[in-house]
Amino acid sequence: MDSLLKPLNGLLHLIYPLHCAVCETPIEQNQLCFKCENDLRPLPLGHCFQCGQWIGGSATRCLTCVEEMAYSGFCYGLYEETKPLAMLIQKLKYRGDRGLIPLLGELLFQVSVSAPQPDLITFVPMQKRRQRQRGYNQAELLAKDLSESLDVAVQSLLAKIKKTKPQAALQRRERLINLEHAFVARPCDAQTVWLIDDVRTTGATLRACAKALKDAGVTQVVALTLAAALPPKGVSNSD
Ligand SMILES: [Zn+2]
Ligand SMILES: [Zn+2]
Repeated sequence: MDSLLKPLNGLLHLIYPLHCAVCETPIEQNQLCFKCENDLRPLPLGHCFQCGQWIGGSATRCLTCVEEMAYSGFCYGLYEETKPLAMLIQKLKYRGDRGLIPLLGELLFQVSVSAPQPDLITFVPMQKRRQRQRGYNQAELLAKDLSESLDVAVQSLLAKIKKTKPQAALQRRERLINLEHAFVARPCDAQTVWLIDDVRTTGATLRACAKALKDAGVTQVVALTLAAALPPKGVSNSD
């Protein structure tokens, strides 16, 4: 840093001290305190790479995910309400904290090293009205961050054309019908496309998007998500 800026930066920190982005503890540098950084763990071994379910042993995917034909997926960690990963995602989505994008993008970058190389990166779209309310689509911002880190182009390929009810409020059959034909993709002949989203639950949204991409000409879809939220009891992961 320029020597003239250094004292200014120190002064700024005095006026606006740095706080951990998760627990708000005052910190000297970075965005997280030591404890929260330590708690921001990747998926422990024994969990399915794609949906986060516990499977044990040395397999990397559960049977349901192995049988998923529309896409293959990787997630960084588990979505647990009071843990740093979930709290950071909530701040990004509901409190407009876009300053968290580089930090969360770095986690996606770590996940991406396991995935086959992409020709293009795209993202799960939001309904236009909802995106206008929020002002941005967090999946798009994450995709752009990853695109810059990897120097692979990002393109908005998908559109949500049907208004859908929140998946959490629906039963199994309704969930499937709810998302059927909810997305369309513009024609694209890329071999491998990465599909970015922040959180997956049942994977129904990723599947609907992946199917639309394949209908549009994409050969292989790889979904990368920050977190996997395990579905409520009684709801199968294949929903
Ligand atoms: Zn903290
Ligand atoms: Zn799985």
